[in-house]
Amino acid sequence: MTENSNVIVVGGGYAGVMAANRLTQRDDVTVTLINPRSTFVHRVRLHQLVGGSDDAVVDYREILAEDVRLVVDSVTRIDAAERSVTLATGGTVEYDHLIYAVGSGSADPGVPGAAEFAYPIAGLEEAQRLRPVLDAASAKAPVTVVGAGPTGIETAAELAEAGRAVTLVCGGVLGPYLHPRGRRSVARRMAELGVAVLEGPDARVTAVTRDSVRLGDGRTLPSEVTIWTAGFAVPDLAARSGLSTDALGRLLTDETLTSVDDPHIVAAGDSAAPSGLPLRMSCQAAIPLGARAADTVLSRIEGEQPSPLNQVFAGQCISLGRDTGIFQFAHRYDVAVGFHIDGRTGARLKEIVCKGIVKHLAAESRKPGSYRLHRVSGGAKRQELLRAARPADETRAKAADETPVTVEHVA
Ligand SMILES: Cc1cc2nc3c(=O)[nH]c(=O)nc-3n(C[C@H](O)[C@H](O)[C@H](O)COP(=O)(O)OP(=O)(O)OC[C@H]3O[C@@H](n4cnc5c(N)ncnc54)[C@H](O)[C@@H]3O)c2cc1C
Repeated sequence: MTENSNVIVVGGGYAGVMAANRLTQRDDVTVTLINPRSTFVHRVRLHQLVGGSDDAVVDYREILAEDVRLVVDSVTRIDAAERSVTLATGGTVEYDHLIYAVGSGSADPGVPGAAEFAYPIAGLEEAQRLRPVLDAASAKAPVTVVGAGPTGIETAAELAEAGRAVTLVCGGVLGPYLHPRGRRSVARRMAELGVAVLEGPDARVTAVTRDSVRLGDGRTLPSEVTIWTAGFAVPDLAARSGLSTDALGRLLTDETLTSVDDPHIVAAGDSAAPSGLPLRMSCQAAIPLGARAADTVLSRIEGEQPSPLNQVFAGQCISLGRDTGIFQFAHRYDVAVGFHIDGRTGARLKEIVCKGIVKHLAAESRKPGSYRLHRVSGGAKRQELLRAARPADETRAKAADETPVTVEHVA
């Protein structure tokens, strides 16, 4: 019998909850989950919160194992040398192993006026702040959604279906991930909903005012409510704590998700950068990464060598209002293929996915160790990418006078 191990999971999102639940497999592991809120944010429904069809929260009692101690607080610093974290409310908590799962939020738009006048929605409080603003705006008020990734598309569709006059400014193409066939389907649906879709390099917002947006080609569009969905950023906790990160601030790990600085720190979800080749920021990756992170910690406790990550993607599932959606299928290495399911069936699939996420977490809370998707092979592609990154890495190391560099510098 080994000694009791204290594991702290920082961040109670998809990755953190999966990891915390899975760690309860062992009676000699004490699991503490630190999260700033006492409720779980179901982020994949935040556009529904904006549209008024869901509150995008789930009670932790539904999805978190009873043996996990939930501490409602924020970690302000990780002291790797002392193996402790500092909490925002004061005090420190010590650990034997730490799982870093602080997720992501809205990126700084870096556009004049956006911080003051545009509404980001990647976080719960941001989406909640926007709701009354929309309620107060007249039904005909022009609404601009900036960014045509899945969050922008879903938000534009949700609001247009509710009768809003929506312009979607893509800053490039509509749904960059989508296969051209999938993109045509989404474009048709947007047209049906009356969304004005502005595509192309000039359809880029360069300034935001209280009642308008300016585009790259000099046009000014009236916009009473401007919603910013372009890009995710990650918390700077790892960098602030002196840990190695990629350029975006994701914790840099090896393929077992272990920090390149410290074997007692493991990362998962949007805030992890395995081998400097991070996976697409998504719930789809966060849950298996959470399971993998827990398995890595459990292997270390057992004195075994942890396994490297697998990741298999299915595609991208986008709601296009409440009754329509699209499931864009992909190669398992996350590149869209020419097959999708759209219309009502697409919407049903999206709903199954959203409910399935909560079910997966709840199932793992009741029967820790039962989740298996992170063991399914994602094929040879990741190995190819890692191999392709390595020679460049070595060349750069030579160029930098034999100073070793990590794969993060290669992208
Ligand atoms: C509107 C919208 C729709 C989306 N739709 C999809 C979709 O359909 N499919 C899909 O795959 N992905 C989707 N995503 C992306 C997905 O939500 C994220 O990729 C996912 O939430 C990442 O999971 P995570 O566990 O890494 O982080 P998160 O879910 O962001 O959780 C991180 C947690 O850590 C907490 N935290 C942060 N800092 C600290 C700290 N210092 N101390 C303690 N706790 C901290 C946060 O408050 C949060 O609770 C969508 C996102 C949005 C915004």
